[in-house]
Amino acid sequence: MRYLSQIFQPVITIPRDAIIKNTEITCKSQKLLLECGLVRPTSAGFFTILPLARRVLNKLETLVHHCMEEIGAQRMSLPSLTAAKLWEKTGRLQDIGVELLKVEDRHGKKYVLSPTHEEAMADLLADIGPLSYKQLPLLLYQISNKFRDEPRPKHGLLRSREFSMLDAYGAHTTHACASETYDRVTNTYRKLFDTLQLPIHRVAAPSGAMGGTLSHEWQLTADTGEDILDMCLKCDRVVRAETVNDVCDKCASEMKRVNSIEVGHTFVLGERYSAALGAHYTARETTPTPIYMSCYGIGITRLLAASVEALGNDKALRWPDAIAPYRLLIIGPKEGSKEWSIGGWEEVQRLGQELEQVGLAGDVLLDDKHTHTIGRRMKAADRMGYPIIVVCGRSTTENPPKYELYTSKAVGYTAPILLTRTELITEVARIARNGNIDIQLASKRLYVLGFHGFSPTISYRTGFRGFYYQCRNKSGMSNYVVEAPAGPGPGGARISPVNIENASYSVLKRYNDIVKSKEDKREYRILETVVDPVHELAGSTGEIP
Ligand SMILES: [Zn+2]
Repeated sequence: MRYLSQIFQPVITIPRDAIIKNTEITCKSQKLLLECGLVRPTSAGFFTILPLARRVLNKLETLVHHCMEEIGAQRMSLPSLTAAKLWEKTGRLQDIGVELLKVEDRHGKKYVLSPTHEEAMADLLADIGPLSYKQLPLLLYQISNKFRDEPRPKHGLLRSREFSMLDAYGAHTTHACASETYDRVTNTYRKLFDTLQLPIHRVAAPSGAMGGTLSHEWQLTADTGEDILDMCLKCDRVVRAETVNDVCDKCASEMKRVNSIEVGHTFVLGERYSAALGAHYTARETTPTPIYMSCYGIGITRLLAASVEALGNDKALRWPDAIAPYRLLIIGPKEGSKEWSIGGWEEVQRLGQELEQVGLAGDVLLDDKHTHTIGRRMKAADRMGYPIIVVCGRSTTENPPKYELYTSKAVGYTAPILLTRTELITEVARIARNGNIDIQLASKRLYVLGFHGFSPTISYRTGFRGFYYQCRNKSGMSNYVVEAPAGPGPGGARISPVNIENASYSVLKRYNDIVKSKEDKREYRILETVVDPVHELAGSTGEIP
């Protein structure tokens, strides 16, 4: 548990059209991360990562680490400097030389500050080789800082010269074996991006400077993105907008052009690097054969900035639950108030300790700026985008004391829910477990129907994971998250109602119930029901384009 006043967070205000360290402020993540004291530029394209942003990166790296270990990958560390002669041997010193930051030691030996490590990895395999076919396949990875000499660094952390990146390398005997690893890694990418609740699409890509036979980009749709995609309005087809793609080649529906940010890239490389650097394996009596390689990258620093681009608004940061710097802020009473005089601040500290025990260990921050009004501190908290805020204000003097619970929305926070202490702890535990639905809305993975009366009605839109559904019964509103089946809906992008056959209120209420759609004959699974307390969502539909 930490105190807000102790956080090293140099907050500043950037004037309009400001140029900071020779760099224009061109996008919201760049502006907000600097203004809110998460990063500081040192020179064009280089940044000091301050404690709050470091926490986000730590969480991202831990998530990536768990995903990779789960599929049997092994972590290691390669040096940042790679001998330039290796890059010469693979031809990349010539091909992408201008993008490489180079250094020379006192003996005149040249090195590259690596943007990626195919050369270093192939050289390692060559050095210990030839490997036996029995040692393959191998999947090795590292998470470390990489360097790229961007001609014009811009958009802050989205295009910086030094960045944290996951890079993983597969070593195989055959293309078939490499394809198997490729599927395994891309499945874990999907799982990771689902955990982050970000709208990230896998898009077929040319292999470019990397060489190889198969490649995908992992693209997050965001207005500030520099890449352009065409998305089918009906099915899940997403392609790079290199040519005119008016019509989907899968279902012949209309396509929509969107901007996006590349956050990951995966390749089946083949023998380009292993053949050039002599990384071989032997199978029984055969002569040594070049290892068949694959490689995988995720831009960790870029993912931090891209999350802010996707979820934040012009004035405030917003985070996926899993990586928010702190997930919960408790705002205590103002000094000298009635609630302060009855031991309000001591209660805030006790409450903080208890909330750390319900799934938020190390993620609770106490606002100890007692001299500021609660309103002023709420405003500052909104800017930081804590997923959950608890206010211990005037209503804590009631009998029994009531606490105000807020959860972040794309813009602002939900209206406060007044809860007793026990109710508060139960509700915070539930949110800690299930995540903040409003942020899933902001990432456009869910569509809010709002009030649809007693008779259950469901709508869906292509690209959404499910619906947030509200239904009124005698005792008030109830909320449901319903998973939509994959594939095109009856109305495509047009929001159209689908009647659910035999789905009475009582049927819908049960967790994991399957309900069948009358219109498209498919099944919908109830993922979550939230019966109490009532969670007011007025205005949430406005966030969906
Ligand atoms: Zn389509």
